[in-house]
Amino acid sequence: MKTIKKTIEVPKKRPTRLCSISSTVTSKSFCIICNKQKSKGVTETFRICEYERAQSFIDATKYYLDEVYTRTSTLNTAEDVFANDLHCHKLCINNYLLKYKRQKSADENPNNIKKQYQIQKSFDAIISELNFSENGYALSDIRDRINGLLDSDLFIENRKVKELLIEKYGENICFAYPRDRSKSQMFYSKIIPSESIVETIRSKKAYK
Ligand SMILES: [Zn+2]
Repeated sequence: MKTIKKTIEVPKKRPTRLCSISSTVTSKSFCIICNKQKSKGVTETFRICEYERAQSFIDATKYYLDEVYTRTSTLNTAEDVFANDLHCHKLCINNYLLKYKRQKSADENPNNIKKQYQIQKSFDAIISELNFSENGYALSDIRDRINGLLDSDLFIENRKVKELLIEKYGENICFAYPRDRSKSQMFYSKIIPSESIVETIRSKKAYK
């Protein structure tokens, strides 16, 4: 009798994108995205366990320079994400990464590349007029001055100014976060003495 050798195909296991929290965790964890324990009625949080996803998370925070970035600014690599035991609601992380993915592909659109060029040129022009060795500046002031140079259908927000500043000055730039959220964030060079920053901040009457 002939025996037929059967090869059994073992389906490849999909990589785990999110790992659930260990059952030994008793305290409810804060979500790194929304900074809450409960979001839309959900308290269950997950760890980011997949390399590609962890890297996207880091890239997204650096792109947005938002509160998530502020909470995770010491993290640079996917390994840092794993090592720091970050928790997040499934919906929060999914939305955050999806928003980033969409924004990135919009940025790569040729029309937007042209706009980016115009923004960069206006940014460079305004920045070259600043005296970083002596002054700190309000982010919203610089944003308005850049917008003044751009075509009327084009404008940027504080986030973009911040991104361009970090791109240009890297670690030599600092941002001061005011407690009063109605006041604009300040930025200054790390090499200027702190007394002159205080003077500049004090002397600024009209915050936007
Ligand atoms: Zn959340």
